[in-house]
Amino acid sequence: MIIALKKEIRKEEREKLISWLESYGVKTHISEGEFQTVIGLVGDTTRIDTDLISGLEIVQSVTRISEPFKKANRKFHPDDTVIRVTDEVAFGGGCFQIIAGPCSVESEDQVETIARAVKKSGAGMLRGGAFKPRTSPYDFQGLHGEGIRILLEVKRRTGMPVITEIMDIAHLPLFEQVDVIQVGARNMQNFELLKELGRIDKPILLKRGLANNMKELLMSAEYIMAGGNEQVILCERGVRTFETYTRNTLDLSAVAVLHELSHLPVVVDPSHATGAARYVKPMAMAAAACGADGLMIEVHNDPPHALCDGPQSLTPEQFDDVVGAVRKVRAAIA
Ligand code: PEP
Ligand code: MN
Repeated sequence: MIIALKKEIRKEEREKLISWLESYGVKTHISEGEFQTVIGLVGDTTRIDTDLISGLEIVQSVTRISEPFKKANRKFHPDDTVIRVTDEVAFGGGCFQIIAGPCSVESEDQVETIARAVKKSGAGMLRGGAFKPRTSPYDFQGLHGEGIRILLEVKRRTGMPVITEIMDIAHLPLFEQVDVIQVGARNMQNFELLKELGRIDKPILLKRGLANNMKELLMSAEYIMAGGNEQVILCERGVRTFETYTRNTLDLSAVAVLHELSHLPVVVDPSHATGAARYVKPMAMAAAACGADGLMIEVHNDPPHALCDGPQSLTPEQFDDVVGAVRKVRAAIA
């Protein structure tokens, strides 16, 4: 951060500002030019409020020269972070995984049928929502604790690690045996939830908010990491635009940009991004081609009767075809 001071300020005022800045644990570097005095800050400036400094009488301008995300920043960790879920399942640093399963856990039979099918096709992880963030309070809200019990039972029977979404930190005890906790798009900026997840020792898959930019996604990752939990997987799931032919607009540039800015793995969810089963395959292939560290794909044994997100859900047969195509893409770019 660089703070340019106004001309003709008193030395005492300048010294007062410097000692206040240093009380945040940063180092200051003064450069007294012929026309202007500039204070450069080195260190962790995330706790320093630029608006507050800009508003000071003696300050002319404030420019941040380092990104506000530190722990998520590639400059702080040049190598890719590998998030290891089990001995076989990991994301990042060349490790690629496909997460598949229904939007919502509906019954034990449903989850087990889908899990066995997607595992056979090559999915490494099973997904299924137990707490569903629905736009309408009259829509299926998920099976809650019973949904998590079903997922864990299917995990025990199939050996697949599981991921499911948390909406309220009060439910955290239910997630003890869950392998990866998902923070959905609607909770990406639920900062109190993020802070609590920063205190646990479990991978978190953080989905990009419906209308959030990449910096905001990285800052949300930073919330989790600042608390000590550095196991964050970023997920691009499309953002809301003026387009209506797709549910959201899949921003694949996020994969390239986030990989440049951060060392965290980036997973792409082509199901929520497009909202239509027929677009999932081309987008999954494109995501693999641009270097995504994994995919999250909704699969249902009976999409027309799914309790949530049927139109974007693949049948197990369609999923098998997508996995084959993604494998070919990955082999081609290897
Ligand atoms: C989900 O994965 O089931 C989900 C609700 O996704 P998103 O938060 O991306 O809408
Ligand atoms: Mn869904």
